[in-house]
Amino acid sequence: MTSDATPPYRNPLYKNHVLLLSQSFFIKDNRDELLLHAHKYDFDIAFFNEVSHFVSAIGNSRDHDLFVIDLDALHNLQSDMQSSRKTLMLGELLERLPGNHDYVYLQSARQGGRFLLQQRLVDSHCLAYAEKPIPNDVLVDKLFKLFVQRKGGDLVRLIHLGDPTDLDEAALLRQRVEVIRHADAHTLHQRVKELQPDIVLIGAAEYDRTEAIARVLQKNIEADPVREITLLQRRPDEDQARRALASGFDEIMPLSAPDLLTEQLVHRANKIRVSKDLIGKDRATGLLNKVGLQKKAQALIRQAARDNVPLAYGVVDIDKFKTINDTWGHSFGDIVIKRLSLTLAQQVGELDLLSRFGGEEFVVVFWDCTPAQGWQKLDALRQAFGAIAFQVAPGDVRHFSFSGGIATYPEQRSENELFLRADAMLYEAKQAGRNRICPPGDAMA
Ligand code: GH3
Ligand code: MG
Ligand code: MG
Repeated sequence: MTSDATPPYRNPLYKNHVLLLSQSFFIKDNRDELLLHAHKYDFDIAFFNEVSHFVSAIGNSRDHDLFVIDLDALHNLQSDMQSSRKTLMLGELLERLPGNHDYVYLQSARQGGRFLLQQRLVDSHCLAYAEKPIPNDVLVDKLFKLFVQRKGGDLVRLIHLGDPTDLDEAALLRQRVEVIRHADAHTLHQRVKELQPDIVLIGAAEYDRTEAIARVLQKNIEADPVREITLLQRRPDEDQARRALASGFDEIMPLSAPDLLTEQLVHRANKIRVSKDLIGKDRATGLLNKVGLQKKAQALIRQAARDNVPLAYGVVDIDKFKTINDTWGHSFGDIVIKRLSLTLAQQVGELDLLSRFGGEEFVVVFWDCTPAQGWQKLDALRQAFGAIAFQVAPGDVRHFSFSGGIATYPEQRSENELFLRADAMLYEAKQAGRNRICPPGDAMA
C-alpha cells in the first residue's frame, strides 16, 4: 500500500490531484472504485490515514490540488501525540490543518443535522462539504466541478451598450471578463452575432430609446440560449423592469458602486464559465467535446476570414482500438486515449483547437497553417504517439498508432465541410493500411 507516501504521491499521468484523509475501512471498500472514476476525470487520489502525513503532504502540494477530509476519520484517528492516546477531536483536527488552504469535508448525515457543527465547519477554511453516504461517482463528479471552478478558466466576453464609465474594465479583465464596448443600438445584433459574447449588458437609457433591442437579439434562431441579456438600471424602476423582462431581458442589475457591479458580474461570469465547461468539454481529458469544438471552430473560421489566414483541420482515430480494448481491457483502452490526449495537447499551440470528438477520435485545428504545414504537424503527432511505449504486461511493451485525415480552409468553407472532408480523408488513410495521414504530404504541398 502506498497510502501514507508523502511527496511522490503525484502521478504525472493525471492533470489534477486529490489528497484524501480517511480512516482505512472507508478506503478499503471504496478505494479502487473511487480511483477508477477519478481517473476517467483526469485526477488521481492519494490516500492518507495519518493526520501528520496528510499535513506534511499538504506542505508539498501544488496550486490546484484538492484536500478532502472524511470526518468519520475522527472516530478512528488517534491523536498521534505520544503523551495522549485519546481520540482526535474535531477542533483539534481543524487546528492542525494548515490555514493557507481550503478543505472539502465529508460528513455523516448526523453531523450535517447539527447546525452549530455545520457552522463551525463552513467557517474553518471550508471549500465545500458533502454528506455521506455519497456514491463514488457522484463524489468524483463534484470534485471535478471544484477543479473546474478553481482554475482560471476561459475568458468570458461581455458586450456593453451604455455609458462607458459605468464599468471598471480593468478590474473585470483581471477576473477574466473581457469587456467590449458598442455604441450603436441598431448594430448591436450584428456585433453580437460576430463576437458571440456570453453577456450583453444594456443601459436603461439605451433600452428606453430602442425598446426592441433584446427581442432582436434573442429571437435570432442561432442565438446562444446560455447568453445573458442584462439591463443595467441606474435607479430602481419597477415598471421599466417589468417591460424589459417581458421583452427578452434575462435580468435586471442595479448600477450601484462600480466595485459591487464588478463583483456581481464576476459571479455571473463564473457561473457561465462552469456551465460552458460542463457543456463544451470532455470530462475525462478536459479537451473540448463535439459541442465545444463546433462553437470554437466556427468562431475560428470567422476570425480566419477576417484576418485572411488559412486553417488546417485534422481528424484522428486510433487504429484497431477495438482490439486494444478486447485484448487488454477497457480501462487500459482509456489509458491509451488519455496518453494520446496528452501527446496532442503538448504539441498543439495556444491559438489551435484540440477536441476529443468521440471515444477514440480527436480533432485538431491549426491556426494560420497551410495544407503542407498541416500535414507535417499531424504527421509529427502521429510519430510522437507511435513512439510511446505502453507496458501491457511485465516485459511486454507495445506501440499503437492512429490514422488521420486533413482538410483545409479556405478550400473548405464551413466547419461542417471541413469535418466531412477530413473524415473522408481519414477513411482513405484507414483503407490504405492505417498509421498514416491522408491526403499524403506531397499531394498537399
Ligand atoms: P479502426 O482502425 O478502423 O479505427 O478500428 P477500430 O477498432 O479502432 O474501430 P473503431 O474506430 O470503429 O472503434 C472504436 C471503438 O472504441 C469502439 C468502442 O468500443 C471503443 N471506445 C469508444 N469510446 C471509448 C472509451 O472512452 N474508452 C474505451 N476503452 N473504448 C472506447
Ligand atoms: Mg473510431
Ligand atoms: Mg479506431
